[in-house]
Amino acid sequence: MGEIKRKVLVLYVGGTIGMQKNEYGVYMPVPDAFVNKIKSTSEMHDAKIATKYKIDLNENELILPNLGPNLIIYRIKEYHPLLDSSNMATKEWIRIAEDIKENYSKFDGFVVLHGTDTLAYTSSALSFMLENLQKPVIITGSQIPVFESRSDAKENFLSSLIFAGCYNIPEVCVFFANKLLRGNRTTKVSSNCLDAFDSPNYHPLATTGIEVNLHYHYIAKRNSSSKFSVHTNLSSNVGRLTFYPTIASEQLESFLKPPIEGIVLQSYGAGNISSNRTDLLKVLKTAVDRGVVIINITQCSKGSVSVTYEAGKALEQLGIISGGDMTAEATLTKLAYILAMPCSYESRVKLMKSNLRGELSSAIFKYHNNNEKETASGSIATLPSCF
Ligand code: ASP
Repeated sequence: MGEIKRKVLVLYVGGTIGMQKNEYGVYMPVPDAFVNKIKSTSEMHDAKIATKYKIDLNENELILPNLGPNLIIYRIKEYHPLLDSSNMATKEWIRIAEDIKENYSKFDGFVVLHGTDTLAYTSSALSFMLENLQKPVIITGSQIPVFESRSDAKENFLSSLIFAGCYNIPEVCVFFANKLLRGNRTTKVSSNCLDAFDSPNYHPLATTGIEVNLHYHYIAKRNSSSKFSVHTNLSSNVGRLTFYPTIASEQLESFLKPPIEGIVLQSYGAGNISSNRTDLLKVLKTAVDRGVVIINITQCSKGSVSVTYEAGKALEQLGIISGGDMTAEATLTKLAYILAMPCSYESRVKLMKSNLRGELSSAIFKYHNNNEKETASGSIATLPSCF
Protein backbone atom coordinates (compact mmCIF):
# COMPACT_ATOMS: atom_id res chain seq x y z
CA MET A 1 0.00 0.00 0.00
CA GLY A 2 1.09 3.62 0.13
CA GLU A 3 2.95 3.61 3.45
CA ILE A 4 5.88 5.99 3.57
CA LYS A 5 8.91 4.76 5.47
CA ARG A 6 10.75 7.49 7.35
CA LYS A 7 14.04 6.93 9.14
CA VAL A 8 15.13 8.83 12.22
CA LEU A 9 18.46 8.65 14.00
CA VAL A 10 18.30 9.20 17.76
CA LEU A 11 21.48 10.37 19.47
CA TYR A 12 21.06 9.50 23.13
CA VAL A 13 23.56 11.78 24.84
CA GLY A 14 22.30 11.50 28.44
CA GLY A 15 20.14 13.45 30.88
CA THR A 16 17.37 12.71 33.36
CA ILE A 17 15.31 10.97 30.67
CA GLY A 18 17.36 7.78 31.12
CA MET A 19 18.61 8.22 34.68
CA GLN A 20 18.00 6.03 37.71
CA LYS A 21 18.72 6.59 41.40
CA ASN A 22 21.98 5.14 42.71
CA GLU A 23 22.69 3.83 46.21
CA TYR A 24 22.95 7.41 47.57
CA GLY A 25 19.49 8.27 46.21
CA VAL A 26 20.71 10.60 43.46
CA TYR A 27 20.05 10.33 39.74
CA MET A 28 22.75 9.12 37.39
CA PRO A 29 22.75 7.75 33.83
CA VAL A 30 22.66 3.95 33.48
CA PRO A 31 24.02 2.41 30.25
CA ASP A 32 21.58 0.36 28.08
CA ALA A 33 18.66 0.74 30.50
CA PHE A 34 16.85 3.42 28.46
CA VAL A 35 16.94 1.48 25.18
CA ASN A 36 15.64 -1.68 26.85
CA LYS A 37 12.82 0.25 28.48
CA ILE A 38 11.83 1.88 25.16
CA LYS A 39 11.91 -1.50 23.37
CA SER A 40 9.41 -2.88 25.85
CA THR A 41 7.05 0.14 25.72
CA SER A 42 4.22 -0.58 23.28
CA GLU A 43 3.66 3.09 22.32
CA MET A 44 7.33 3.38 21.36
CA HIS A 45 7.99 0.11 19.55
CA ASP A 46 5.62 -2.28 17.79
CA ALA A 47 7.38 -5.26 16.19
CA LYS A 48 4.06 -6.49 14.76
CA ILE A 49 3.99 -3.46 12.45
CA ALA A 50 7.35 -4.49 11.03
CA THR A 51 6.02 -8.00 10.37
CA LYS A 52 2.82 -6.63 8.84
CA TYR A 53 4.69 -4.41 6.38
CA LYS A 54 7.51 -6.94 5.82
CA ILE A 55 10.16 -4.59 7.19
CA ASP A 56 13.39 -6.25 8.18
CA LEU A 57 14.43 -4.39 11.30
CA ASN A 58 18.05 -4.82 12.23
CA GLU A 59 19.09 -5.34 15.83
CA ASN A 60 19.31 -1.61 16.64
CA GLU A 61 16.14 -0.54 14.92
CA LEU A 62 12.74 0.18 16.45
CA ILE A 63 9.44 1.06 14.84
CA LEU A 64 6.60 3.23 16.09
CA PRO A 65 3.03 1.91 16.08
CA ASN A 66 1.25 2.80 12.85
CA LEU A 67 0.81 6.56 12.36
CA GLY A 68 -1.42 6.96 9.35
CA PRO A 69 0.56 6.86 6.13
CA ASN A 70 3.96 7.11 7.85
CA LEU A 71 6.01 4.30 9.29
CA ILE A 72 8.74 5.70 11.53
CA ILE A 73 11.74 3.45 11.90
CA TYR A 74 14.35 4.72 14.31
CA ARG A 75 17.74 3.76 15.56
CA ILE A 76 19.09 4.78 18.98
CA LYS A 77 22.80 5.52 19.18
CA GLU A 78 23.77 5.63 22.84
CA TYR A 79 26.79 7.73 23.86
CA HIS A 80 29.47 6.32 26.13
CA PRO A 81 29.64 7.61 28.75
CA LEU A 82 26.12 8.97 29.05
CA LEU A 83 26.32 12.50 30.38
CA ASP A 84 24.56 14.75 32.79
CA SER A 85 24.32 17.84 30.57
CA SER A 86 26.04 19.95 33.24
CA ASN A 87 29.18 18.10 32.16
CA MET A 88 28.82 19.04 28.50
CA ALA A 89 30.48 21.82 26.50
CA THR A 90 32.18 22.46 23.15
CA LYS A 91 33.65 18.95 22.74
CA GLU A 92 30.22 17.31 23.09
CA TRP A 93 28.51 19.82 20.76
CA ILE A 94 31.11 18.97 18.14
CA ARG A 95 30.55 15.25 18.60
CA ILE A 96 26.78 15.63 18.07
CA ALA A 97 27.34 17.81 14.98
CA GLU A 98 29.78 15.27 13.55
CA ASP A 99 27.36 12.38 14.14
CA ILE A 100 24.64 14.29 12.29
CA LYS A 101 27.07 15.04 9.46
CA GLU A 102 28.14 11.40 9.15
CA ASN A 103 24.53 10.15 9.02
CA TYR A 104 22.92 13.08 7.24
CA SER A 105 22.13 11.34 3.95
CA LYS A 106 20.93 8.11 5.61
CA PHE A 107 18.10 9.56 7.73
CA ASP A 108 15.10 11.84 7.24
CA GLY A 109 15.53 13.52 10.59
CA PHE A 110 17.37 13.47 13.90
CA VAL A 111 16.40 13.45 17.58
CA VAL A 112 18.91 14.29 20.31
CA LEU A 113 18.03 13.00 23.81
CA HIS A 114 19.74 15.40 26.18
CA GLY A 115 19.78 16.60 29.78
CA THR A 116 17.73 19.72 30.32
CA ASP A 117 20.29 21.80 32.22
CA THR A 118 22.42 22.89 29.25
CA LEU A 119 20.06 21.79 26.50
CA ALA A 120 19.50 25.38 25.31
CA TYR A 121 23.26 25.90 24.88
CA THR A 122 23.50 22.74 22.77
CA SER A 123 20.46 23.63 20.65
CA SER A 124 21.86 27.12 20.07
CA ALA A 125 25.37 25.88 19.27
CA LEU A 126 24.07 23.25 16.83
CA SER A 127 21.95 25.84 15.03
CA PHE A 128 25.13 27.76 14.14
CA MET A 129 27.26 24.68 13.45
CA LEU A 130 24.77 23.11 11.02
CA GLU A 131 24.60 25.45 8.03
CA ASN A 132 21.87 25.12 5.38
CA LEU A 133 20.20 22.37 7.35
CA GLN A 134 17.39 20.83 5.26
CA LYS A 135 16.16 18.24 7.78
CA PRO A 136 14.69 18.45 11.30
CA VAL A 137 17.00 18.13 14.31
CA ILE A 138 14.81 17.90 17.43
CA ILE A 139 16.39 18.07 20.87
CA THR A 140 14.42 16.82 23.83
CA GLY A 141 14.70 15.27 27.27
CA SER A 142 12.49 15.00 30.31
CA GLN A 143 12.14 16.27 33.85
CA ILE A 144 11.21 12.82 35.22
CA PRO A 145 13.04 9.64 34.09
CA VAL A 146 11.25 7.27 31.71
CA PHE A 147 11.30 4.59 34.45
CA GLU A 148 9.01 6.57 36.77
CA SER A 149 5.24 6.50 36.56
CA ARG A 150 4.58 10.24 36.10
CA SER A 151 7.37 10.65 33.57
CA ASP A 152 7.14 13.19 30.74
CA ALA A 153 9.76 11.20 28.77
CA LYS A 154 7.48 9.15 26.56
CA GLU A 155 5.39 12.09 25.36
CA ASN A 156 8.45 14.29 24.67
CA PHE A 157 10.33 11.51 22.87
CA LEU A 158 7.36 10.29 20.83
CA SER A 159 6.40 13.77 19.61
CA SER A 160 10.05 14.51 18.77
CA LEU A 161 10.22 11.34 16.65
CA ILE A 162 7.04 12.39 14.83
CA PHE A 163 8.38 15.89 14.13
CA ALA A 164 11.73 14.50 13.00
CA GLY A 165 10.18 11.81 10.82
CA CYS A 166 7.06 13.35 9.32
CA TYR A 167 7.53 17.10 8.95
CA ASN A 168 9.58 19.37 6.79
CA ILE A 169 11.13 21.55 9.47
CA PRO A 170 14.67 22.46 8.38
CA GLU A 171 15.77 23.71 11.79
CA VAL A 172 17.40 22.76 15.06
CA CYS A 173 14.40 22.71 17.43
CA VAL A 174 13.60 21.91 21.03
CA PHE A 175 10.48 19.88 21.79
CA PHE A 176 9.26 19.97 25.37
CA ALA A 177 5.83 19.89 27.02
CA ASN A 178 3.68 20.23 23.89
CA LYS A 179 5.77 22.98 22.28
CA LEU A 180 8.21 22.90 19.42
CA LEU A 181 10.57 25.85 19.81
CA ARG A 182 13.37 27.21 17.66
CA GLY A 183 16.59 25.91 19.23
CA ASN A 184 18.46 29.20 19.32
CA ARG A 185 15.47 31.04 20.83
CA THR A 186 15.02 28.58 23.68
CA THR A 187 15.95 28.92 27.32
CA LYS A 188 15.35 26.75 30.39
CA VAL A 189 12.85 28.55 32.62
CA SER A 190 11.99 26.02 35.31
CA SER A 191 13.96 23.46 37.28
CA ASN A 192 10.83 21.68 38.51
CA CYS A 193 7.91 22.23 36.10
CA LEU A 194 7.36 19.77 33.28
CA ASP A 195 6.95 22.82 31.05
CA ALA A 196 10.62 23.66 31.54
CA PHE A 197 11.48 25.60 28.37
CA ASP A 198 10.34 28.79 26.75
CA SER A 199 11.13 30.85 23.70
CA PRO A 200 10.60 34.30 25.19
CA ASN A 201 11.05 36.38 22.05
CA TYR A 202 9.83 34.06 19.30
CA HIS A 203 6.58 32.26 18.60
CA PRO A 204 6.60 28.42 18.97
CA LEU A 205 7.11 26.65 15.64
CA ALA A 206 4.38 24.15 16.54
CA THR A 207 2.17 23.08 19.41
CA THR A 208 0.69 19.67 20.12
CA GLY A 209 -2.68 18.92 21.65
CA ILE A 210 -5.43 16.79 20.18
CA GLU A 211 -3.96 17.99 16.90
CA VAL A 212 -0.49 18.98 15.81
CA ASN A 213 -0.55 22.67 14.91
CA LEU A 214 2.34 23.77 12.76
CA HIS A 215 2.92 27.52 12.61
CA TYR A 216 4.45 27.58 9.13
CA HIS A 217 4.94 31.31 9.10
CA TYR A 218 7.55 31.00 11.86
CA ILE A 219 9.46 28.05 10.41
CA ALA A 220 12.65 28.81 8.46
CA LYS A 221 12.48 28.62 4.68
CA ARG A 222 15.54 27.10 3.05
CA ASN A 223 16.85 27.24 -0.43
CA SER A 224 17.16 23.54 -1.24
CA SER A 225 20.07 24.16 -3.60
CA SER A 226 22.28 25.46 -0.75
CA LYS A 227 24.66 22.76 0.37
CA PHE A 228 24.50 21.46 3.96
CA SER A 229 27.78 21.95 5.81
CA VAL A 230 28.98 21.47 9.37
CA HIS A 231 31.29 23.88 11.22
CA THR A 232 33.20 22.25 14.02
CA ASN A 233 35.56 25.11 14.86
CA LEU A 234 34.42 26.91 17.97
CA SER A 235 36.27 29.34 20.21
CA SER A 236 36.28 28.59 23.93
CA ASN A 237 37.46 32.11 24.77
CA VAL A 238 33.98 33.41 25.37
CA GLY A 239 32.18 34.34 28.59
CA ARG A 240 28.89 35.49 30.04
CA LEU A 241 28.72 38.21 32.66
CA THR A 242 25.62 39.50 34.40
CA PHE A 243 26.00 43.10 35.49
CA TYR A 244 25.08 43.87 39.13
CA PRO A 245 25.09 47.04 41.24
CA THR A 246 28.07 46.17 43.47
CA ILE A 247 30.43 44.93 40.75
CA ALA A 248 34.02 46.11 41.30
CA SER A 249 36.23 47.25 38.42
CA GLU A 250 38.82 44.61 39.48
CA GLN A 251 36.22 41.87 39.02
CA LEU A 252 35.31 43.16 35.57
CA GLU A 253 38.97 43.54 34.66
CA SER A 254 39.84 40.01 35.67
CA PHE A 255 36.86 38.65 33.72
CA LEU A 256 38.00 40.45 30.57
CA LYS A 257 41.65 39.38 30.77
CA PRO A 258 43.25 37.53 27.79
CA PRO A 259 42.65 35.00 26.36
CA ILE A 260 39.01 36.14 26.46
CA GLU A 261 37.91 37.22 22.97
CA GLY A 262 34.20 37.80 23.36
CA ILE A 263 31.65 38.26 26.11
CA VAL A 264 27.92 38.35 26.55
CA LEU A 265 27.24 41.29 28.86
CA GLN A 266 23.81 41.04 30.46
CA SER A 267 22.79 44.56 31.34
CA TYR A 268 19.75 45.93 33.15
CA GLY A 269 16.37 46.35 31.44
CA ALA A 270 16.59 47.67 27.90
CA GLY A 271 20.41 47.57 27.89
CA ASN A 272 21.64 49.81 30.66
CA ILE A 273 24.63 49.80 33.00
CA SER A 274 25.65 52.40 35.58
CA SER A 275 26.82 55.29 33.38
CA ASN A 276 28.23 57.07 36.46
CA ARG A 277 30.76 54.25 37.05
CA THR A 278 33.64 55.65 35.01
CA ASP A 279 35.93 52.98 36.51
CA LEU A 280 33.87 50.25 34.82
CA LEU A 281 33.46 52.14 31.56
CA LYS A 282 37.25 52.51 31.39
CA VAL A 283 37.77 48.75 31.82
CA LEU A 284 35.21 47.99 29.12
CA LYS A 285 36.80 50.51 26.73
CA THR A 286 40.25 48.94 27.23
CA ALA A 287 38.80 45.51 26.37
CA VAL A 288 37.06 46.80 23.22
CA ASP A 289 40.30 48.51 22.15
CA ARG A 290 42.08 45.16 22.60
CA GLY A 291 39.55 43.64 20.13
CA VAL A 292 37.24 41.86 22.59
CA VAL A 293 33.77 41.57 21.03
CA ILE A 294 31.28 42.59 23.72
CA ILE A 295 27.60 41.94 23.07
CA ASN A 296 25.00 43.67 25.19
CA ILE A 297 21.80 41.75 25.91
CA THR A 298 19.18 42.18 28.61
CA GLN A 299 19.23 40.24 31.86
CA CYS A 300 15.41 40.32 31.80
CA SER A 301 13.82 37.03 30.83
CA LYS A 302 11.98 38.64 27.90
CA GLY A 303 12.56 41.60 25.58
CA SER A 304 15.51 43.22 23.90
CA VAL A 305 18.08 45.96 24.34
CA SER A 306 17.68 49.38 22.78
CA VAL A 307 19.25 52.77 23.23
CA THR A 308 16.44 54.39 25.16
CA TYR A 309 18.40 55.75 28.13
CA GLU A 310 21.62 57.67 28.66
CA ALA A 311 22.81 54.67 30.69
CA GLY A 312 22.49 52.47 27.59
CA LYS A 313 24.01 55.02 25.24
CA ALA A 314 27.22 54.86 27.31
CA LEU A 315 27.75 51.23 26.24
CA GLU A 316 27.13 51.98 22.57
CA GLN A 317 29.64 54.82 22.67
CA LEU A 318 32.29 52.42 23.96
CA GLY A 319 31.85 50.18 20.91
CA ILE A 320 29.75 47.59 22.72
CA ILE A 321 27.37 45.89 20.33
CA SER A 322 23.63 45.52 20.78
CA GLY A 323 22.55 41.90 20.80
CA GLY A 324 18.89 42.84 20.18
CA ASP A 325 16.56 40.15 21.50
CA MET A 326 18.98 37.19 21.43
CA THR A 327 18.98 34.77 24.35
CA ALA A 328 22.18 34.51 26.40
CA GLU A 329 22.65 30.93 25.13
CA ALA A 330 22.37 31.99 21.49
CA THR A 331 24.66 34.98 21.99
CA LEU A 332 27.39 32.95 23.70
CA THR A 333 27.38 30.13 21.15
CA LYS A 334 27.16 32.57 18.22
CA LEU A 335 30.27 34.29 19.61
CA ALA A 336 32.01 30.90 19.91
CA TYR A 337 31.12 30.18 16.26
CA ILE A 338 32.09 33.57 14.86
CA LEU A 339 35.27 34.05 16.88
CA ALA A 340 36.64 30.81 15.45
CA MET A 341 36.49 32.32 11.95
CA PRO A 342 39.63 33.94 10.59
CA CYS A 343 37.95 37.35 10.27
CA SER A 344 38.75 40.95 11.09
CA TYR A 345 37.16 42.57 14.15
CA GLU A 346 34.82 44.54 11.85
CA SER A 347 33.61 41.35 10.09
CA ARG A 348 32.98 39.65 13.43
CA VAL A 349 30.93 42.60 14.61
CA LYS A 350 28.96 42.59 11.36
CA LEU A 351 28.24 38.87 11.69
CA MET A 352 27.19 39.24 15.33
CA LYS A 353 24.71 41.94 14.26
CA SER A 354 23.31 39.76 11.47
CA ASN A 355 20.45 37.31 11.77
CA LEU A 356 22.27 34.11 10.76
CA ARG A 357 19.87 31.34 11.82
CA GLY A 358 16.74 33.11 13.01
CA GLU A 359 18.27 33.87 16.42
CA LEU A 360 17.70 37.63 16.16
CA SER A 361 14.62 39.65 15.27
CA SER A 362 15.94 41.90 12.55
CA ALA A 363 13.04 44.31 12.84
CA ILE A 364 14.22 45.26 16.33
CA PHE A 365 17.66 45.89 14.98
CA LYS A 366 16.39 47.91 12.05
CA TYR A 367 14.26 50.01 14.37
CA HIS A 368 17.16 50.93 16.58
CA ASN A 369 19.85 51.11 13.96
CA ASN A 370 18.58 52.63 10.77
CA ASN A 371 21.87 52.30 8.97
CA GLU A 372 21.84 48.49 9.14
CA LYS A 373 20.61 46.60 6.11
CA GLU A 374 18.72 43.67 7.57
CA THR A 375 16.21 41.10 6.47
CA ALA A 376 12.61 41.06 7.67
CA SER A 377 11.82 39.66 11.11
CA GLY A 378 11.95 35.89 11.24
CA SER A 379 13.69 35.37 7.91
CA ILE A 380 17.27 34.27 7.90
CA ALA A 381 20.10 36.05 6.17
CA THR A 382 22.26 34.00 3.86
CA LEU A 383 25.66 35.39 4.51
CA PRO A 384 29.07 34.29 3.43
CA SER A 385 31.09 33.05 6.40
CA CYS A 386 33.30 36.10 6.28
CA PHE A 387 32.99 39.27 4.30
N1 ASP B 1 21.04 17.39 35.42
C1 ASP B 1 20.22 16.84 34.36
C2 ASP B 1 20.93 17.11 33.04
O1 ASP B 1 20.92 18.20 32.59
C3 ASP B 1 18.89 17.46 34.38
C4 ASP B 1 17.93 16.94 33.35
O2 ASP B 1 18.23 16.22 32.45
O3 ASP B 1 16.74 17.33 33.46
O4 ASP B 1 21.49 16.18 32.49
